[in-house]
Amino acid sequence: MSPSQASKEAIANSMRYHEFLEKGLIPPKELGVPVKQLFPQDWNSHFEKGLLEKYGPNSNILRWKLENVDLQEVLSYLDRLHATNMEIAMTSKMLLDRQGMLVGLAIEQLRYNDFEAKWAAMDMEAKQGIVLDGLIRGAFKAREQSRFDCPEICVSGLAGDGQYSLVNLLRAIVAHDPSATFRLKSLFWYSHPKVEEEYAFITCPIAPDEARALGYLRMLERNHFIVQALLGILEAYSGKPAPKISVEEDIQNKQRQPCCCACGERTSAVTTLKRCSGCKIVCYCSKECQSRDWPVHKKLCSGRNARFDPAVVAATPDALEPAEFVGCPPPEPGFVRSPALWRQIFYLAKKDSYDRDYHFETSPDFTYSVRISDPTLRLIFFIARRRAMASGDRGAVGKLNDILQGLRRRGQVKFTERQICDQLEREYRVALSPPPEVWGADPTPQEIMEEMGYLERRKVLAAQQAAAEEEWKRE
Ligand SMILES: [Zn+2]
Ligand SMILES: [Zn+2]
Repeated sequence: MSPSQASKEAIANSMRYHEFLEKGLIPPKELGVPVKQLFPQDWNSHFEKGLLEKYGPNSNILRWKLENVDLQEVLSYLDRLHATNMEIAMTSKMLLDRQGMLVGLAIEQLRYNDFEAKWAAMDMEAKQGIVLDGLIRGAFKAREQSRFDCPEICVSGLAGDGQYSLVNLLRAIVAHDPSATFRLKSLFWYSHPKVEEEYAFITCPIAPDEARALGYLRMLERNHFIVQALLGILEAYSGKPAPKISVEEDIQNKQRQPCCCACGERTSAVTTLKRCSGCKIVCYCSKECQSRDWPVHKKLCSGRNARFDPAVVAATPDALEPAEFVGCPPPEPGFVRSPALWRQIFYLAKKDSYDRDYHFETSPDFTYSVRISDPTLRLIFFIARRRAMASGDRGAVGKLNDILQGLRRRGQVKFTERQICDQLEREYRVALSPPPEVWGADPTPQEIMEEMGYLERRKVLAAQQAAAEEEWKRE
């Protein structure tokens, strides 16, 4: 079925679903899940009703599964442990990455933005509106069906102040790793007694590996759904506009088209994905990604005598992209980097960022990057950036602000004066008004030499990167 046909069908089903509800009737199962862009409330009730049937006081999880889980899909996992292992490797990596993002944002809100008091002061209806908006944002990025494994994800519970309130779910992941270095030391698992019971077979020694691996994958997907939902809620709370995703786009994104096993990049006009010649299952977008993933993938690639062992299969922080860029200074003793600064460092470390100088955050997933064209100004920016990143020096941050505001006045940055200040203040935790006296001391010849060296190295890396990509495409 072509995506446009699929989306037309989904919309038609969704309208019929809504008609049933309006007449006070129960919609038949074949109508599936209502389209969230058209009927957000129906979409949510569909899941909340299912969750109540599955986990509610008179529930029977086994009976619910027999009636609702696609048996054909489950059976398809039984003879391909090899491929399930690889799906686990990829999903766990994606989860680790998203969890790092969530911890940073949660710390920012809880520790520095007085989130708990502000949230508690809002009225219930407003909170529920934000939660629902956030759930929909999150559901565009996770496997929607996984919501049936998330009894914690219900609008009134998240907006309320019970055990599974938004604040408590955020506190739980922050407690797992309060350092907020953008990379968690290990995966964090949200726990719920009914879910633990449901998936207890994962650790049962007599359960077949295929079943345990599938259960483990479902637990990863459950956590991924929760994390994306929480990220979505924080995004909605900060008033960032919701991304406009059409029904068709959403269906396309959810069809598991191949993506790079190391960085998640999908095929596009500029990216060519190639399959691993060993297993012919996973794909890579570049030689660099393939070599970075090899230490993990080699244990899964051959596939003969495949076993399920989470310690081997699930991603560790080493599998993620490096979190520092060429020339990134170590922090001086006593200077603790903020989550926002960690994110800036992370964006600058990305391989497509060698010639980018600063990233403006537009949402947790998107940045707008700036390159300073004037070479002298650029070098000054680097020196100030290095000082600011090492010690949080207020004069250096003031210099960064000066330069970025200059770009704004010349129309090279599309953000407002306030937005630029806000982001710098968040990153370095210094106040920019009244404006600081710029620079503590003039740039030294040594600083200039060093920055020129780093710039050269980044240029060489960018050229190598471009050449490797060309070669990759030709092969
Ligand atoms: Zn890649
Ligand atoms: Zn392989």
